[in-house]
Amino acid sequence: MTTTPRLILATRNAGKITELHSILADAGLPHELVGADSYPDIPDVRETGVTFAENALLKAHALARATGLPAVADDSGLCVDVLNGAPGIFSARWAGRHGDDRANLDLLLAQLSDIADEHRSAHFACAAALALPDGTERVVEGRLRGTLRHTPSGTNGFGYDPILQPDGETRTCAELTPAEKNAISHRGKAFRALVPVVRELLG
Ligand code: IMP
Repeated sequence: MTTTPRLILATRNAGKITELHSILADAGLPHELVGADSYPDIPDVRETGVTFAENALLKAHALARATGLPAVADDSGLCVDVLNGAPGIFSARWAGRHGDDRANLDLLLAQLSDIADEHRSAHFACAAALALPDGTERVVEGRLRGTLRHTPSGTNGFGYDPILQPDGETRTCAELTPAEKNAISHRGKAFRALVPVVRELLG
C-alpha cells in the first residue's frame, strides 16, 4: 500500500526537507513531507516578485497547483542595512551569475570595504509560504541579525555564511555547526513560525 504525501516542499535540497520535517514532527505534526524532486516534471518558477514573501508565495502556489498538494516554499537572502536592504532578493545573483557564492561574497565585501564595524549590521531574512490547491495562502518570516566581517571565515554552510557573525556570537555562520545554525537561523525561525499555520490549515 502506498501512502499519500500530504505536504510538498519547493526545494531539491535534502537538508531543508529534513529541517522542516523535524520541526513539524517535534510540534506533533508528523506530516509526510516530500521534495520537489518527487515531481520531476514540474517546471521551475520564475521569481518575479520583489519581496521574499512574494517569491515564496509564487513558488508555493505554482507547486500546489501543479501537484494538488498543500505546498511550502521559502525564499531568503542577505539584507545589509547600509545598502538599504540589498542584496535582498538579488542575493543569489548579486555578482551577475546565479548561485556564484564566492563572486557574490567578494563583490559585497569590496562594496563595503570602507564601511566601519559599527555600520556593518545586516540580517539574513527568510519568508516561508504555505499554499493550498484551493488558493488559500499564508506567509511567515524569520530573521537572523548580525554584523558583517571584513574577511570570510569558516567552511561550513554556503552563500554569505562566512561573513555574517550573528549577534551574541564570536563565530561566523560558517564556523557554526549545522545544528547550531539551524537553531538560530532565519529559515529555522520561519519554518517554526509555520507550525501554527500548518496546524490551522491542515491539522
Ligand atoms: P535561496 O532562497 O535558498 O535561493 O537563497 C538565496 C540566496 O541568499 C543564496 O544564494 C545565498 O546567497 C543567500 N542566503 C540565503 N540564506 C542563506 C544562509 O543561510 N546563509 C548564507 N547565505 C544565504
